[in-house]
Amino acid sequence: MSDLQLYNTLSRELESFKPITPGKAGVYSCGPTVYGFAHIGNLRSFLFADVLRRVLEVNGLDVKQIMNITDVGHLTDDADAGEDKMLVAMRREGRSAYEIAEFYTEQFFNDAAELNLKPAHEFPRATKHIDEQIKMIQDLEKNRYTYTTSDGVYFDTSKLESYGKLSGQSADEKQAGARVDMGEKRSATDFALWKFAPKGVNREMNWESPWGDGFPGWHIECSAMSVKYLDAPFDIHTGGADHIAVHHENELAQTEGALGKRQANIWMHGEFLMVDGGKMSKSLGNLYTLQEIKDKGLHPLSFRYLNLGSHYRSKLNFTWGSIEGAENALRKLWGIMRNWDKAGSEGVTKYEERMLGALNQDLNTAKALAELWKMVDDDSISTDKKAKTALWLDEVLGLSFNEYIATPLNIPSEVQDLLDKREEARANKDFEASDRIRDEISELGFVVEDTPKGQLLSEIPPYQEGKQGGQ
Ligand code: AMP
Ligand code: ZN
Repeated sequence: MSDLQLYNTLSRELESFKPITPGKAGVYSCGPTVYGFAHIGNLRSFLFADVLRRVLEVNGLDVKQIMNITDVGHLTDDADAGEDKMLVAMRREGRSAYEIAEFYTEQFFNDAAELNLKPAHEFPRATKHIDEQIKMIQDLEKNRYTYTTSDGVYFDTSKLESYGKLSGQSADEKQAGARVDMGEKRSATDFALWKFAPKGVNREMNWESPWGDGFPGWHIECSAMSVKYLDAPFDIHTGGADHIAVHHENELAQTEGALGKRQANIWMHGEFLMVDGGKMSKSLGNLYTLQEIKDKGLHPLSFRYLNLGSHYRSKLNFTWGSIEGAENALRKLWGIMRNWDKAGSEGVTKYEERMLGALNQDLNTAKALAELWKMVDDDSISTDKKAKTALWLDEVLGLSFNEYIATPLNIPSEVQDLLDKREEARANKDFEASDRIRDEISELGFVVEDTPKGQLLSEIPPYQEGKQGGQ
């Protein structure tokens, strides 16, 4: 078995994965905030966490993955200022906070299922773990890491010598970068553990606490819930790259402050999805959801394929052209697999070794995919062996190969007649007729492609609600 190397943001190095408990891996993945639809950038970060989990599993590890659902309202910026996002959603939708959270949690689960994300073993909700969060703040208070202002209880970052170690920024550097509006905070890097309920605002999500009615700060939920479900230290913590400087820096600091020990050994971060070379944002009108991808007639797994083609630590530029390219490649792969024999008892060791080697090199899915294509095109191998290896690799890729391998298309007779006519037209070099027949075939719901082995037929994205597996 090749050694599994993972990049640890904390050490800034590739490290050999050494499970805390032999044979097991505990993974905590920062999950969605549920005041709105997840956009495809959010989904990229969950795809990365899914691939990590699957790679751990093909290495024979028994994985326990926890993903939180952030259903408590938080402020619209990281500096504990701005408007409460849940209140913004309540105003927008005229629904209660709990209804909003429930609705968008369901939407997230639908997206996750369509992307073949394996469901985490638990999806703890922040609102269901208020006691654990209060307990952790009490521990921090006991250990003298807190102070109180008129609007909340804060973590005093100057009390933790190692503060800043995740992003590698000193507290001074961080302060220089932070906005100046500090309110009563002693330092710009200090952050809220508990916020007092603002007077005259109907927040719905308020709880009693030893410090007064209010609600937890954003970071404390992940500290409290990760430790509850995985114990500290656990093996791996994941999130998007934007979490490094604030959310994870603070999570790590307060967990160490409360428990006096490390929270997680390895911190891994997925890079951003960009759109047309820039940031995805509402104001630029380029913030897409999975629904918009489906509305264009594209298969949701094309988005998965697109992500697998890039490394999780590189920015990925999303364009409609790029996802169409991914869709074509995936459909071609599925089309080829339809004509294979069923998986035999043996795979192709040479390719499996290379694929695993790539995956174990910090989740190099792009290289594993390239090896898959090499194997697909390798005529020296029988297709039952290819099928066996492809299914094995699909444990990580999650591209539903099992639905396509050795499952020939049911070609309606009228389409078969058109295919025959088109073959004749091509033999006569009547390309005009050949193109016209291709259009007729496409109107019947099929795509025809010319390959060295003749015409290859596949269905036009037959997206069907609820058909994809996952959970
Ligand atoms: P949120 O629901 O806002 O808490 O975000 C969920 C996850 O998506 C977090 O891990 C973020 O770091 C990540 N994220 C946000 N924007 C992007 C983006 N454009 N590309 C990749 N990941 C993102
Ligand atoms: Zn988190």
